[in-house]
Formats: sequence, structure tokens, C-alpha cells
Amino acid sequence: MAYVSMKKMLNDAREGSYAIGAFNIVNYLTAKAVVSAAEDLNVPVILQTSVKTVKQFGIEEFISFLRPICEMAKVDVAIHLDHCTDIEYAKKCIDAGWSSIMFDGSKTPLKKNIENTLIVKEYIAGRDITLEGEVGSIVGVEDDIVVHANDAAYANKEDCEKYLKETGVDFLAPAVGTAHGVYKGEIRLNYDLFKEIDSISPVPLVLHGGTGLSDEMFNTLIDLRASKVNISTAIKIAYCDSMYEYSSTHRDEHNPLTLDDYVYKKIYDLAYKHINFFTLRKGSVNNE
Ligand SMILES: [Zn+2]
Repeated sequence: MAYVSMKKMLNDAREGSYAIGAFNIVNYLTAKAVVSAAEDLNVPVILQTSVKTVKQFGIEEFISFLRPICEMAKVDVAIHLDHCTDIEYAKKCIDAGWSSIMFDGSKTPLKKNIENTLIVKEYIAGRDITLEGEVGSIVGVEDDIVVHANDAAYANKEDCEKYLKETGVDFLAPAVGTAHGVYKGEIRLNYDLFKEIDSISPVPLVLHGGTGLSDEMFNTLIDLRASKVNISTAIKIAYCDSMYEYSSTHRDEHNPLTLDDYVYKKIYDLAYKHINFFTLRKGSVNNE
């Protein structure tokens, strides 16, 4: 299979009433574990990179080891830049070889968001690169781990309609009550709003803030044609906890490879159960 943009995989998902998992990977090990899980389930997957992670490695360095993982994969894989608010940084990632970009102008007024999104849209014109946009700011900062569910925000349907029409983005992430980080308090998802926005959207909708949602919530949103589900915080927790678990129970062992194997397996299992649930609509994401 191939290194691809998100276009076909998300359009197929929307038609087929399933969703593609987009996992915020943080290094080679996590990227490889996610792709291996997708290969074993024989479904496409998205390696998602936060701007902060890309900056940690450097643009060229990061893509130079991520891309071969995708090119050698037995399934279609996209590399997507998550929540980029900086147009110039997005352009650098586009030139370096990302196959998909999220330009997040949701913190600016709608008019400015549209203007800035269009700059990125024009920059990718003629290339097989997809663009995701956001309307109605999804609360929580991915690196601040706890978010109060009461702070959740909601997009306005008319704003979404105008944004979609004027920008021509490939996918839209509307704020419908999810948040980034770990939820505290009751999660209030607005399914009706999601359904309404989907009904006026010519392109697939994306669900951010997937960590902490119940199976039922995921199922309902995927039934309502959420086509991409972002999983970030769960990866961070699994990565750090498994490293701690192994190290604290193997105090006399100093073998990085067995530690990596243990962490890899935990990330693989996490990705496997999410992909199985989102794509094949089997199993559970909350079965621990
Ligand atoms: Zn997000």
C-alpha cells in the first residue's frame, strides 16, 4: 500500500459508516506500533504529529524516519500535522513531505480564520495533500492533561457553513463538546449539532478529544458519520505509565530493548483496540 493523503481514506470512511483512527505519535516506537496494529487489522491509519513534537525533533529529522515507516507499510498511512496555528510552519511541513495538514485558526474571528485557511489551501493547490480546518474552538491544550468538561465549547452551524463554502477545506473539525486532555466532570456532547453540521458539510467531519469518550459516545458519533477520531492523550498516558510500570518492577535490569518491547506492546494494544472499534466496529475501547 502507500504513503497517502487523508482524502480517500476519510471519504471512504464517511461512505462506509466507520472512522479512521488518528494517533498522536511521539517518536519512532509509537509510530511503528500504531502502523503495525493497522497492518494486523488491514485498515488505513493516520500518524498524527503535534507541532510541539515536530519541534522537539526538527521538521526534516522527524519526517525522515516517519515517512519510510509509511512507505513500507502494508496499509495506507497518512502523516498529518495536528493543530498548526502558524501558516509559515505549516508551509515548511508541507514542503518537507507531510501528506496532510490541520490549519487551526479557530482562536481567531471567523473572517480571519477563513483568510488564513485560504492561504494554506492555496499553498497545497496541485499537490496530493489534504487540509483540515476547525470552527468553534475545541477547548483544552493537548499538553495540559486535565480539562473540565464544563468548559467545552460548541461550534455555530452557520459559521461552519460559511467556513466550508469559502475555504474548500477537505475536512472540518467542529467543536461539539469534546475537549483535549483528560475529562473532569460530565461530558456533554451535542449530537444534534454534529448531525446538523454533517448535513450541510460536503466533506467528512473530524472528532477531536477522543480520549475518555465511552464506547457508546464513539458509536453514536461514528453512526452520525464522524470519519476521523483523534487519540492523543491516551497514547501519552500509555507511554509514560508503561515505562514507569516496567522500570519500577525491573529495578535491577538495564536493558533498553526489553523496556522498549514492553512499551511498544502497550501502544500497539491501545492502537489495535481503537482501530478495531472505529474501523471494523468490533470490540471496545474501554475494556480494561
Ligand atoms: Zn485536537
